[in-house]
Amino acid sequence: MEKETLAIHSGYVKDSQGTMAVPIYQTTAYEFRDVEHAGNLFALKELGNIYTRLNNPTTEVFEKRLATLEGGAGALATASGMSAITYSLMNVAESGDNIIASSKLYGGSLTLLTHTLKRFGIEARFFDIENPSSIESLIDENSKGIFFESLSNPSVDVADIEAITEIANRFNILTIVDNTVPTPILCNPISSGVDVVVHSASKYITGQGLAIGGAIVERENIVEKIKDNPRYPQFNKPDESYHGLVYVDLPLPIFTLRARLLFLRDMGATLSPFNSWLFIQGLETLPLRMKQHSDSAFTIAEFLNSHPKIKKVNYPELIDSKNRLLAKKYLSDGASGLLSFELENSENATKVVDGVEIFSLVVNIGDSKSIITHPASTTHQQLSDNEMVEAGISKGLIRLSIGLESAKDLMNDLEQALANI
Ligand code: PLP
Repeated sequence: MEKETLAIHSGYVKDSQGTMAVPIYQTTAYEFRDVEHAGNLFALKELGNIYTRLNNPTTEVFEKRLATLEGGAGALATASGMSAITYSLMNVAESGDNIIASSKLYGGSLTLLTHTLKRFGIEARFFDIENPSSIESLIDENSKGIFFESLSNPSVDVADIEAITEIANRFNILTIVDNTVPTPILCNPISSGVDVVVHSASKYITGQGLAIGGAIVERENIVEKIKDNPRYPQFNKPDESYHGLVYVDLPLPIFTLRARLLFLRDMGATLSPFNSWLFIQGLETLPLRMKQHSDSAFTIAEFLNSHPKIKKVNYPELIDSKNRLLAKKYLSDGASGLLSFELENSENATKVVDGVEIFSLVVNIGDSKSIITHPASTTHQQLSDNEMVEAGISKGLIRLSIGLESAKDLMNDLEQALANI
């Protein structure tokens, strides 16, 4: 089936009431039939509902639908995109291990890798997304994951996913990609060999800036890469915290299962059923919206590219973009609503950001309402000057998230703001 159909129907079987909309199961816990039933659920002899910190029927529809759209085998929804990223990295790496990560990432992911995971003994080694072959020299026996964004925020670089997975597969390392910006509608990293996809659902998936959430999706047969792989003893040896469970022996999607059983159980960044329901509504219209966001962003990128006051525009589909060939390969249906452009200095950037009227000054992307951001003073403020350069951010860089308003009105708004400099 096509994505438009899957986005509306997959993962939901109507209940006995014939309910067209997915019901919100707003509950904390579930009644067991008897002691044996409860015991079987806890021992994973039977799968079912235990407690909403671990699973919930509304959330399960969201998980199944997202996994289907990504072409994956299973998903785990989380309370935010950051918890999805944290849990997926903690699932592969432990104290003494290292993660090889792109230096061009969302600011929160960079601080997670550079500072927070470091406090737990996990080292981050950064590579240049424009030069995937640089990954190879960073790998050693303690390297447990390669993490990058399919379309980076805010530098809008397209990853050469196949080049990265080729290296990862040669060294038997799991790849984890943040696919938040293109969404599964525009890009399916699993079909290019990625093992795990993570999302912030707070962006295009909700689509109207309504809720925070995230998800981890794993590919089919990830077990083949993990089984007997010395990099991943945690999946191959008995798990003492789950009475000796050996994950690779289970006929289930084991990556998300382990993240659910350990991290959701013990750390509890659970998505609320109501937010799952909002994301289900978002997924239904995602194919239409991604097309419109991409079409408008391309029109606006071309307009900005020919504007005399702008130094440089970053949008993968532009004729002079260094990412054009990669965009053709990985983003053939559009490159999302995210673009950025550079002005001479921070002062000019401030004038434009303060001068727009339709765009809102907000640190978010993927909303139906257009957004303008100055990354150097907000999302990437915590980075050192050097880290900022490596993340592709100058003081004069402005990021736009093109919403669903008329592209003509948005161009007029930018034109009048640019007249201030
Ligand atoms: N990944 C990307 C690409 C993002 O842009 C963001 C947030 O801006 C996140 C992850 C974090 O998501 P959340 O805000 O849902 O925790």
